[in-house]
Amino acid sequence: MTNAPIRPLIAGNWKMNGLAAALAEATAVRDTLPSLGGNAAEVMICPPATLLAQLAGLAKGSPLAVGAQDCHWAAAGAHTGDIAAEMVKDAGASAVIVGHSERRADHGELDRIVRSKASAAHRAGLTAIVCIGETRGEREAGLTLTVVRRQLAGSLPDAVDPTNSVIAYEPVWAIGTGLTPSTDDVVEVHAAIRAYLVERFGAAGQGVRILYGGSVKPANARELLALTDVNGALVGGGSLRAEDFLAIVRAAL
Ligand code: PEP
Repeated sequence: MTNAPIRPLIAGNWKMNGLAAALAEATAVRDTLPSLGGNAAEVMICPPATLLAQLAGLAKGSPLAVGAQDCHWAAAGAHTGDIAAEMVKDAGASAVIVGHSERRADHGELDRIVRSKASAAHRAGLTAIVCIGETRGEREAGLTLTVVRRQLAGSLPDAVDPTNSVIAYEPVWAIGTGLTPSTDDVVEVHAAIRAYLVERFGAAGQGVRILYGGSVKPANARELLALTDVNGALVGGGSLRAEDFLAIVRAAL
């Protein structure tokens, strides 16, 4: 299935890393982006919530986009410690990651919760970056495509389109391990995700970006980003240092 070219997204997920001093890395990314040849790729950093507003402030007016790592499904209320999608938007972000496997594992987030968070992102005018991916056991049992389809069906709200949603395929066993699936395996899963999106959302599903995530680094980024239906990357460890992250961004251009 080929269509109009999709502008790739390279999104850095800092996870629970980064004190104020880490903003220097984001500043270096911001200051380098203009020299990298226009805006062929969208580049985003998702810092911890404590740095969200500051990072959004320093990125304002630059090509660097800013995202949060999670949001609550409610717009406001008695949810101590949580952050509403509207607050994320108010802090200056344009996107929010939902359903990251670490949230699914650490906080018991089920598909239906991820779906309500993605809906909250849409309600607030944010792009939802919806994460899915199989565990090692599921892959070894030959269940990868079944799991991925089940997660898509359960985690995606009905109003998905290329402007409000991004899918991040992140095999759990590849996150932070240095392991990556074979390129054939990545192509197979991304093709299945694309087929699901088109089946459910029609033409809109054709333009939704599908990111690969899991141990993306400068050494493997170019190969992964060249694969069919890989429309960018969600990068954890490789996004913490500007030098590494920019090398990954360059691989997308
Ligand atoms: C992630 O946190 O989404 C991720 C892919 O991590 P890493 O790149 O470190 O594997």
